[in-house]
Amino acid sequence: MTAELKQKTVVVSTIEEIKKITEAFRGGTLGLVPTMGYLHNGHINLIKQSLKKCDHTVVSIFINPRQFSSGEDLDIYPSNLAGDIEKLESIGVDVLFYPNRDTIYPEGFKTNIQVDGITQHLCGKSRPELFKGVATIVLKLFNIVRPQHAFFGEKDWQQLAVIETMTRDLNIDVKIHRAPLIREPDGLAMSSRNSNLSTGERKKALSLSRSLNDSKEKVKKGITSSKQLRQNIKSIITAESGTQIDYISICDPISLEEKEEVKGRTLIALAVKIGPARLIDNCIIGD
Ligand code: AMP
Repeated sequence: MTAELKQKTVVVSTIEEIKKITEAFRGGTLGLVPTMGYLHNGHINLIKQSLKKCDHTVVSIFINPRQFSSGEDLDIYPSNLAGDIEKLESIGVDVLFYPNRDTIYPEGFKTNIQVDGITQHLCGKSRPELFKGVATIVLKLFNIVRPQHAFFGEKDWQQLAVIETMTRDLNIDVKIHRAPLIREPDGLAMSSRNSNLSTGERKKALSLSRSLNDSKEKVKKGITSSKQLRQNIKSIITAESGTQIDYISICDPISLEEKEEVKGRTLIALAVKIGPARLIDNCIIGD
């Protein structure tokens, strides 16, 4: 029997090593897929886009402490490096960049990237450190890896908006690619944080996608009042005991400004705390 030929993923932790490796890739195109690890099919779909589009792909895994405020779930954020490497090898990823915190934020680190406006809405309201932390780490990764392409998921709609805005405003030479939100067969949006849910909490978490589907149906039937749709989403989610709604936003998908009526392309975005996890979900309705 011939042994299965598997691509070995090179794992590097230092900035010097990753720069040396990516320097050798300069003849072709390089894609970057930033993640916080505990990889699932939402990540794998992004990575496959990069593998398809680019000659070389670097995946990064870094649980970025600067995007968590105190009291959030940094300490219980799941990780499984060995399992992640296995997944990356099975799909043929060249390189995993896996830096530690001191490598990314050495003593004396003082810089933050702040994107204004769109960060005042949705998750930015209740997670004040989130987008400063996200923009800063993404710009750092762009500068370290220097990809021509980078891949992000629409599960984190606002994060994508922040990264696209930063890339445009700072004339960063990276093309940002969007990938669709990937769900479990029962509708739950895939997230590393789902692993922190108990069986009972996971069932309650289905109320997020259920409420979004219900809104889509209501809009099809001609109900376009955001107030009414929001009320309806709220009643579906709070019917599950112990769910805590952070926000229900019915807004413009680009400016993220709230809309009173669902007219034209509209984003419905939710954040709900269930047990130890704060879950987000979203959908687009209209043309
Ligand atoms: P994370 O590891 O959660 O920080 O996510 C890393 C990247 O994967 C981000 O661009 C996310 O938007 C994307 N991602 C995470 N979950 C999903 C999902 N269910 N569907 C699509 N993209 C996702």
